[in-house]
Amino acid sequence: MTDLGRQQALDAIATEVRACINCRLHETRTKAVPGEGDPETEVVFVGEGPGFNEDRGGRPFIGRAGDLLVKLLASIGWRREEVFITNIVKCRPPDNRDPQPDEIAACAPYLRRQLEVLDPAVVVTLGRHSMARFMPGARISGAHGTVRAIDPGTGTRDALVFAMYHPAAALRTPAIEVESYADIAGVPAALLDARRRREAVRSQEATVPTAPAIEAATTESGPPAAPASTIPPASDEPAPQLTLF
Ligand code: URA
Ligand code: SF4
Repeated sequence: MTDLGRQQALDAIATEVRACINCRLHETRTKAVPGEGDPETEVVFVGEGPGFNEDRGGRPFIGRAGDLLVKLLASIGWRREEVFITNIVKCRPPDNRDPQPDEIAACAPYLRRQLEVLDPAVVVTLGRHSMARFMPGARISGAHGTVRAIDPGTGTRDALVFAMYHPAAALRTPAIEVESYADIAGVPAALLDARRRREAVRSQEATVPTAPAIEAATTESGPPAAPASTIPPASDEPAPQLTLF
């Protein structure tokens, strides 16, 4: 898909989200929050749901949790504009309560479609609800900072998930904030792993006519996407934060 095609597909999903009445959360929202970011990114961050500020502004992670997310990204040399940021539910749960299972289920197709368009190499989950989608059965206390392959039923093709605590939890508990900086430092390495893994899978698909069934079901069958993103820098120009790996 071209850059323009991706942007248009994401815009079309966002337009649907803003008009969506598929669960009770539409009744109390001010603005739905579809998500935002670089349509060519390799990394998608998935939070839980909009809070007070996001509900007012219609954009994800623009309150205190968002400020911390921006700082965490800066600690690995990334900017929020270079990734895509969205949530499990696109409308604010009243009083910031947990999203309920039927609300999560009602909203799931939007995230799945966003991931089909973005085709990320890595999905970074922020908090338990997001982790539950991409790392079913995992416990955040053990899973934060770890990676796993993602079930393509989520909309990703061959991505890895990287679990993190929710930034709001880090704001409440200093020890979790410290762990969050340690965790995010592992994301560039996870991206390099994910790139290697998908390049291996996709080059094999390109030469082997009997591709796995899951691939036969996707509409894209072109060559591997070029690493167009500026993050992290290409491996022939390692940034300081990548020299560790
Ligand atoms: N918390 C979330 O999970 N998502 C947001 O967009 C903001 C705060
Ligand atoms: Fe629709 Fe999702 Fe908002 Fe529910 S939370 S109304 S499913 S966009």
